Amino acid sequence: MTPIERLFTLFDQTALILQEELQCTYLEAVAETGENVFHGDVLQEEVSELNKKRLKNEYKQIQLDRFTNEEVRKAFQLAVLKGMKEHTQPHHQMTPDAVSLFMSYLVGQFTANHFALTILDPAVGTANLLTAVLNHLPRKQVKSYGIDVDDLLMKVAYVNANLQKHPVHFFNQDSLQPLFVDHADVVICDLPVGYYPNDDNASRFILKGESGHSYAHHLFIEQSVHYTKEGGYLFFLIPNSLFTSDQAPQLHAFLKEHTVIQGLLQLPLSMFKNEQAAKSIFILQKKGIHVKAPKKALLIELPKFSNKQAMKAMMHKIDEWLATEKKGL
Ligand code: SAM
Repeated sequence: MTPIERLFTLFDQTALILQEELQCTYLEAVAETGENVFHGDVLQEEVSELNKKRLKNEYKQIQLDRFTNEEVRKAFQLAVLKGMKEHTQPHHQMTPDAVSLFMSYLVGQFTANHFALTILDPAVGTANLLTAVLNHLPRKQVKSYGIDVDDLLMKVAYVNANLQKHPVHFFNQDSLQPLFVDHADVVICDLPVGYYPNDDNASRFILKGESGHSYAHHLFIEQSVHYTKEGGYLFFLIPNSLFTSDQAPQLHAFLKEHTVIQGLLQLPLSMFKNEQAAKSIFILQKKGIHVKAPKKALLIELPKFSNKQAMKAMMHKIDEWLATEKKGL
């Protein structure tokens, strides 16, 4: 068994015991068992003595600090994915591993010369994307913020961050309300796509819909830009339809006024169920005194991530682009 399989088996087996005992969903049980693993104890009082013993026995078999953060993240991700399959929540999908890893690489390259960084993920979900990024910035001093409106995902996220020893500041709230965070050097966000139900709050935004509900993803972009420092970078996972929707002209005007577009990287269509579901990584920089637009934005169609050779060539191309444009370097 690989280390990831061993850890996943622990999360899975103990979650099944807790699911039965607590009469909860598997995903809730994964969060509970993750917390137990972190504390090295069984924290749920309602668990019977027999099962407490069984659980403690299982937890004892594993020493968490023998695993790398990436092993912990991937094993926990597998358990969360299993839980999400049970209850399909279309708007709460975890950012896929390959995308999280690729975003991590991009954040690392764009911030190569930063010693200290503040990172914000305003739709942190399970913190899979955020912790993947944090795991790839090992020599930096990083302060990070994660926000999500969903209480269960927030619990999953904070357990996930604890297991990987990342001191993330979490807020369980609507990210389109005022935020209590420092302005960020880097925003990462797998945007929630759809309508935002709170018209009253939406009316504070430049990108509010002209009539009826506003697009949550547009408001998220505006809010993210607002909470970014001058010259800070924003990495969004966007639907490809972002630039063709009825409200695209307003979004374009907003982006032109407040940001410079660094790049648009289209993910391979084979990653998605259909063309409508396809996504891209959109990289922006917030305007500031020293910020110059790139001579040529990075416009790329990414190959299949399984095609190692093509991916390597593409990363080389991106590194060359960064060296020429000297962005953030
Ligand atoms: N990157 C995340 C991960 O790795 O698990 C997945 C993000 S998921 C695509 C989008 C997230 O946005 C969901 O977790 C959802 O609960 C959250 N969300 C949607 N509307 C929100 C709002 N108004 N405020 C805060 N979070 C919101």
